Amino acid sequence: MAKVKEIYNAHLVKIDELSSTVRNFHFEFPERPRFDYRPGQFVMVEVPKEGKTSRKPYSIASPPHWPNKIELCIKKVEGGYVSSYFFELKEGYVMPMEGPLGVFKLKDPLPPHLLFVATGTGVAPLRAMIHTLLKDGHPGNMTLILGVRYEDEVLFDEEFKSLAAAHTNFEYIPTVSRPQTWQGETGYVQDVLLRHYPSPEGRQIYACGLVPMINSLLETLGKSGYPRETIHFEKWT
Ligand SMILES: Cc1cc2nc3c(=O)[nH]c(=O)nc-3n(C[C@H](O)[C@H](O)[C@H](O)COP(=O)(O)OP(=O)(O)OC[C@H]3O[C@@H](n4cnc5c(N)ncnc54)[C@H](O)[C@@H]3O)c2cc1C
Repeated sequence: MAKVKEIYNAHLVKIDELSSTVRNFHFEFPERPRFDYRPGQFVMVEVPKEGKTSRKPYSIASPPHWPNKIELCIKKVEGGYVSSYFFELKEGYVMPMEGPLGVFKLKDPLPPHLLFVATGTGVAPLRAMIHTLLKDGHPGNMTLILGVRYEDEVLFDEEFKSLAAAHTNFEYIPTVSRPQTWQGETGYVQDVLLRHYPSPEGRQIYACGLVPMINSLLETLGKSGYPRETIHFEKWT
């Protein structure tokens, strides 16, 4: 029997500006308890368009243990209908959404070293995974490699720095592909990964980003000996 579509009314309570093109939208569920979900999953939002409804997937950027809320971290795409709609929203807006959806989840058994790799808002599902693992006292090592083009586009920078300072098993490596005054890592995420961790031994990768980024990552890491089954990914179209 087909699963019945369950729609929740999510109330927009707060908007954080993370960069000139990315905002983090906080939603709460005062009408009935929020759906349960696994870190890495997404919601399908519904917005009105020409008398009909336009539906788009957005990864849940917050971990399930943050009570009765979710956060969506959204980039405004030039000419994009739904992402631009989000950037017009004010606090108090009620957005219908279906969730949870998707199979991008942490898979047991976890390896000794988890490598999380994202570009831009692709960090959203990984942020949910990282917060969950740290809260659960995951004993293994974790590294987040977060790539952006310009240095003022690094998302949740202070938050990841604080997590790295508080947890010796969490390492944070932001990287910028078009640096100006940036002193940190530069280049593409897959090259940074190989510079730090050339051997796949004891490691698995969880990666999220647009199709070209994931394809380049798979190709580069495949040539460098990372077996395909150690790379878990979600490609955004
Ligand atoms: C499982 C899943 C989860 C996702 N989670 C997120 C998320 O957490 N945050 C987020 O910001 N996005 C996320 N996306 C992408 C999101 O669903 C939309 O595709 C994106 O917001 C563009 O929708 P739009 O209606 O604004 O653009 P559209 O009106 O559909 O597209 C307009 C044009 O922009 C191009 N385009 C689409 N996306 C991009 C992009 N990112 N960069 C440059 N050009 C683009 C299209 O090819 C098209 O030519 C996710 C996608 C998937 C499949």
